[in-house]
Amino acid sequence: MRIVDLIEKKRDGGAISRAELEALIVGYVRDEVPDYQVAAWLMAALLRGMSPEEVVDLTHVMAASGEQLDLSSIGKPVADKHSTGGVGDKTSLVVMPLVAACGVPVGKMSGRGLGFTGGTIDKLESFNGMRLDLSAAEFVRQLGDIGIVITGQSADLAPADGKLYALRDVTATVPSLPLIASSIMSKKLAAGAHVIVLDVKTGSGAFMREREAARELAQAMVDIGSAAGRTMAAVVSDMSQPLGRMVGNALEVREALDTLAGHGPPEFTTFALDLAGQIVSLATEGVRGQADVERALHSGAARTKLRDMVVAQGGDPGAFDDLSCLPAAALQTAFVAPSDGNLARLDALTVARASVVLGAGRERKGDPIDLSVGVELHARIGDEVKRGQPLATIHASDATRSEHASDLLREAISISANHVEPSPLILERISER
Ligand code: URA
Repeated sequence: MRIVDLIEKKRDGGAISRAELEALIVGYVRDEVPDYQVAAWLMAALLRGMSPEEVVDLTHVMAASGEQLDLSSIGKPVADKHSTGGVGDKTSLVVMPLVAACGVPVGKMSGRGLGFTGGTIDKLESFNGMRLDLSAAEFVRQLGDIGIVITGQSADLAPADGKLYALRDVTATVPSLPLIASSIMSKKLAAGAHVIVLDVKTGSGAFMREREAARELAQAMVDIGSAAGRTMAAVVSDMSQPLGRMVGNALEVREALDTLAGHGPPEFTTFALDLAGQIVSLATEGVRGQADVERALHSGAARTKLRDMVVAQGGDPGAFDDLSCLPAAALQTAFVAPSDGNLARLDALTVARASVVLGAGRERKGDPIDLSVGVELHARIGDEVKRGQPLATIHASDATRSEHASDLLREAISISANHVEPSPLILERISER
């Protein structure tokens, strides 16, 4: 089979067979097919699109390009949850313990933050000493022992995706829905979970700005997972304003611990309970669900599960008794409302830029970050505010960064004289077709 022929077929709008995709992708991973041919195929795929069968085949070929976890030893369905990333998105830190506390094992390989989106792995580093580079064997063992594990994305899982993503990044081929769906789902399939619930975010602070595109991506990923025999569901959720009140690594851990203690922001708590309830219901075929996750929250069982995970991975659990054990910034400065009215806009992307300026996020892969800094919000869209009322507290390491973040917060907000109806967090629910 000549690679040039399959590039030509895609260029002319044809569909590539699984055998052809295997020749291309496996050859690329083995350095037998050169970058320039794969780049040409990527651009043809971006411009011409891919059929649903092609997307499923590509995902399988990528998932099979490395190690695939076998979770059958756990003895019951294992769940995984994935978010496409947003601002203040600490959902996994609450949803996973809720699910695990209901007796559903839940394991996740997660990423680090890049650009304006935060990463669960960075957040968890707020627990001093916590190991986030578990081997596949350690991942499976902990899942069996305590029913909850989060570790960094293993390079051994779906290595084709890592190599393809790096090429997409420099060939302007990242924003292709079939390529994004297969990239995300190849890693999910290789990680082995039986039940996968996806949170696809939309709005200024999301990778998928447009709601229609977010819905299409969610449905495409649900379809890929169901074709692979996994139980799937997805939500499309709002990311036009940050999720919850805290944006910044240790601040978000603090909010997750507060939420698990029953003192979280109501809308974030409801959102986390909803996702966790869906996962538990899918994993137990409806035997357990929403009422169970609510009980796990109010009894403290979910909080104990998160503590168990931190301890199992060598982290200091001191913050569970005393939040001052978490990294804390030197300076706290109030950002106040410039006028009376209703908060009409609290732009997620601009708040994220403020938190990156403070040092909470990284511009480039590998950059160091400051776990202690970020933005603590005191109002949400729709709230009535008074001139001079603190709308946020800026947690900074120095005054210059704090002032820069304050300028960005001024850009992020609008105050209106009229009543403003906030958007619900869950915009759409996507299920298997
Ligand atoms: N996240 C991924 O893992 N892959 C993509 O292509 C885009 C976002």
